[in-house]
Amino acid sequence: MESTSSHHRDDVVWTPLTASVWTTRLDPYGVTCGLVIGVDHLLLVDTGSTPSQGAALSMAAARAMGRPVDRVVVTHHHGDHCGGLGAVRRAAGPEGIEVWMHRAAVARMAPDLRGSVEHPMSMLAYLDLGGLSAEVVHPGAGHTDGDLVVRVPDEQVTFLGDLVETSGDPQADESTDFWNWPSAISSAVSAANGEGLFVPGHGDPAEALSVMTQAGEIGRAVDQVRTAMESGVPADRIQEGHDWPFREETIADWVPRIVDQLAARGITRRNLLPLTKR
Ligand SMILES: [Zn+2]
Repeated sequence: MESTSSHHRDDVVWTPLTASVWTTRLDPYGVTCGLVIGVDHLLLVDTGSTPSQGAALSMAAARAMGRPVDRVVVTHHHGDHCGGLGAVRRAAGPEGIEVWMHRAAVARMAPDLRGSVEHPMSMLAYLDLGGLSAEVVHPGAGHTDGDLVVRVPDEQVTFLGDLVETSGDPQADESTDFWNWPSAISSAVSAANGEGLFVPGHGDPAEALSVMTQAGEIGRAVDQVRTAMESGVPADRIQEGHDWPFREETIADWVPRIVDQLAARGITRRNLLPLTKR
């Protein structure tokens, strides 16, 4: 039957970023998933929000390439990135499929998905895809405590997961490490020598400069909270009286989290007495 209604919600359209690295954007969260095309292996970076998105990603990749996805990296545990993992696995070919994810992220996933990861990793993994490789690196805690960055050196493309967002503000949860987040981003940029394209978890690919700008903005938000704490501003007043690099709702969510983390690091009100009176 000739179908004119094939463009349903979960249709996947791949956009080539380079000859061997494609991306697609899935609604409703605008999450960016990647496809890295090696001679021997097909690597999917992130799996979408739902089983039907995972299935649609797998189907679109297999249709375009004539072979199934057999390697997967999930950049972190958030549902819009790992929700399709089970379906991606079920769509695997007879050769099977192997999944990489950070240990901390695996532990935070729904229990029924935890068994879907062959390679829970801590620091570094190297994936030979045939004629092309992918380096999977944990840049330290940032957006979450289990972020992974996927770098494809031959194509000068780096997938950053949600360490960076270009379609809106970066987001935080209870596993976010605000203190370390900017250096996690900058280590991912340094690993690529600042070259090529950086693919955020949400939004369009960007160059090193704008990625580092966002790292700087996260650092500024943390610094502003620190300064306020050191001068004795009560936590519920910190948001007032500053010019913040992100939207009001984002900062309202972040400030209490940053206060807790800085307090845990021993940041308190500075002793403001002049030296002569100590
Ligand atoms: Zn996320």
